[in-house]
Amino acid sequence: METDYAIVGGGIVGLSVAWGLLRRGRRVAVLDGDDGAFRASRGNFGLVWVQGKGMRQPRYARWSQHSAAVWAEFAAEIAANTGRDVPLEQNGGFDLHFSEEALEATVAQYEALKTALDGDYPYEVLGHNALRKEEPNIGPKVVGAILHHQDGHANPLKLLTALAADVRRMGGQVLIGKTVTDLSKPDAFRITCADGTILSAEKIVLSAGLGAAELGPKLGFIAPIRPQRGQVLITEKLPKLINRPSLIARQVDEGGIQIGATNEEVGLDDRVTQPGLSGLAADAIAAYPALARAQLVRSWGALRVLSPDGLPIYQESVTMPGAFLVTCHSGITLAAAHARLLPDWLEGAATAPDLEVFSESRFAFS
Ligand SMILES: Cc1cc2nc3c(=O)[nH]c(=O)nc-3n(C[C@H](O)[C@H](O)[C@H](O)COP(=O)(O)OP(=O)(O)OC[C@H]3O[C@@H](n4cnc5c(N)ncnc54)[C@H](O)[C@@H]3O)c2cc1C
Repeated sequence: METDYAIVGGGIVGLSVAWGLLRRGRRVAVLDGDDGAFRASRGNFGLVWVQGKGMRQPRYARWSQHSAAVWAEFAAEIAANTGRDVPLEQNGGFDLHFSEEALEATVAQYEALKTALDGDYPYEVLGHNALRKEEPNIGPKVVGAILHHQDGHANPLKLLTALAADVRRMGGQVLIGKTVTDLSKPDAFRITCADGTILSAEKIVLSAGLGAAELGPKLGFIAPIRPQRGQVLITEKLPKLINRPSLIARQVDEGGIQIGATNEEVGLDDRVTQPGLSGLAADAIAAYPALARAQLVRSWGALRVLSPDGLPIYQESVTMPGAFLVTCHSGITLAAAHARLLPDWLEGAATAPDLEVFSESRFAFS
């Protein structure tokens, strides 16, 4: 089988990139792993989030803003193409605070970032009373919040299935159960799967999430990726309780309240734990006391895909040109950028975004 692009990894990152390349008329095959694979795209919190991103690297804040700005168009286009709803709300989001000191410290950081972004960082600080007008169910322990107007949330599972449907509609192949075991470049790229499938491609995008750590060195990448566990809870469907998403909880389009997530360095372990879930529930009740009466219906753990500094990695292989490593921590937020802006970079177009700060060279001597 021959194709222009082989995309290794069919999570949100691989499918977003595949979608963008197909839209440009490229032939694309997406190879995705087996049932045992870790899949952050199926266990995440669904925020399309700008605030707090890039505190030490304004280019990351800018990249997140670009993605948030084109997200609505991206979702609308997929929905129109497939007839599948991709729910998105972008009415702003809250970072809730339980102490004045912590709120002031965050504001100081945001002011510095705002200056670095030439003032383009639309947020406001709400004290408890102002916050209660926006979120009547907020609890007395919350002293205030930052409302960032570029934030929002989506349904990540509906996005994932709609994206896969649209990729197929455009003629892309999405091959499931194809764990890639070897990658080489005798002439074109040769991709070998565990089941014996062999694919030949002009270019290859390695977007295998945590799987990139093992496959990356075969293409000349460092691929310094590590897992970080996040545990998540969801309640029964409830009448409207939360107006805007926060970093503690959000009300999903179907009515449940999603609560999360922990940040745990536990290796390749995606189980839930009683202390993890209890801690999440306690924070959520402190923020929104009415949740004490809500029934929990499900909990799960999923593994984040993290680089050492938490920023994305976009790197073309130095030793095997035509191979690209594409990986990030915030694949839902960046889905629109990956679909609509990143393909220019893969194609070497004059309009390509400048992604130099996200290259792997920043880790080469660390
Ligand atoms: C708890 C939690 C909350 C999160 N919340 C948010 C949020 O609110 N907003 C946000 O923007 N992001 C969030 N994220 C991050 C987001 O989910 C990830 O950035 C995103 O899912 C990464 O997508 P991916 O495609 O790179 O990886 P994955 O979804 O892990 O997909 C990788 C794919 O590669 C495949 N693969 C691996 N190895 C191979 C191989 N050898 N051969 C073939 N295929 C292979 C796997 O089968 C898998 O399908 C969260 C993550 C977690 C865990």
